[in-house]
Amino acid sequence: MIAAATIDARPRAAAVTNRPLLTADLAAVAANTRDLAAHAPGAALMAVVKADGFGHGAVDVARTALAAGATRLGVTSVDEALALRAAGIAAPILSWLNPVDADFGAAVAAGIDLAVASRPHLEAVAAAGAGPARVHLHLDTGMARDGAPPAEWAQLCGAARLAEQRGQLRVDGVMGHLACADVPADRANATGRTRFAWGVEVARSSGLRPAHRHLAATAATLTDPRTHHTLVRIGAGLFGIDPSRTVRLRPALTLTAPLVGVRRVRAGTPVGYGHAWTAPAATHLGLLPLGYADGLPRAASGRAEVLVRGRRRRLVGLLSMDQAVVDLGDDAVAPGEVATLFGPGDDGEPTAAEWAAWAGTIEHEIVTGIGPRVARESVAVLRSVR
Ligand SMILES: *Cc1c(COP(=O)(O)O)cnc(C)c1O
Repeated sequence: MIAAATIDARPRAAAVTNRPLLTADLAAVAANTRDLAAHAPGAALMAVVKADGFGHGAVDVARTALAAGATRLGVTSVDEALALRAAGIAAPILSWLNPVDADFGAAVAAGIDLAVASRPHLEAVAAAGAGPARVHLHLDTGMARDGAPPAEWAQLCGAARLAEQRGQLRVDGVMGHLACADVPADRANATGRTRFAWGVEVARSSGLRPAHRHLAATAATLTDPRTHHTLVRIGAGLFGIDPSRTVRLRPALTLTAPLVGVRRVRAGTPVGYGHAWTAPAATHLGLLPLGYADGLPRAASGRAEVLVRGRRRRLVGLLSMDQAVVDLGDDAVAPGEVATLFGPGDDGEPTAAEWAAWAGTIEHEIVTGIGPRVARESVAVLRSVR
């Protein structure tokens, strides 16, 4: 449920009409943050703002989520964490995936918490030498990706305890991650929960006292309170993506672009590379100045639609690197009018979820994939109250 938050400011007209523009609705991020926090009332909320805040702008999203109830931030790399500090964000930040020779000294000096999943990483963090590092030990709870293999866990915990006693670090957390949380009934979730509980026990019997124990990301937070422990790590949900498809969150991103040209073509006119589409009847074709280099997946060619002048219209032919062609039919839409490629769906525009379906991928890949040529702005435009 989204609380009342009605701010009617629309993006400024000039900014919308003269270039491709990605608009992040921070009021939606705030509403989603409160919504997710309400699903895990006993746990703290870490806002995961990796990958430039899933393409929404890491600094703006971080500030918004912290103001809406998140108390910590999560990112992958030390560089992402340092960029948040450089922007003046003082909240605890956890960085969980780094090469063994990352600049852990700079991270510790900046008060960044570091997830550690191997002995070499533990040694590198312990040797960073900028005062005791705050560490979260990361156990593989069933992904065979990052996270320490269970067979190495007891040794890792023992080595971490020794480093604590030497004053090199403090183990502040234990973390795991679930592979199949978007399918709550999947047996891998029970296995992951059990393995995580075992990992916490091993840590405790090694003498560690991790205050933070965290396993759940968005899907598990929404579907399984047994995964909440002391802290939930929320990425996708902040941006209106619910991988478990059990709640309705508010999409926060809108992509628009102006028509740079409109032409009338005769029946039988082939369009774009490979002449993959031929106009079956006379029509108007509009040209949009963005393509797969800007994050429109080429795999969506032939299926994708955009909203122009209040109506859904098909993108025709193959999506190019820099251009897309929209079939406007009989409407003589003028160059300069704005197409909405995706948004929350309020006005009938496609959503990122629809783009994902057209391209055979997930929303995460759509929202994180918008390219650097697209201008960005943040606004607070949450209009509908549910
Ligand atoms: C990205 C990530 C998250 C956030 O997951 P969502 O499903 O986007 O909420 C949490 N934990 C780890 C380790 C991650 O890499």
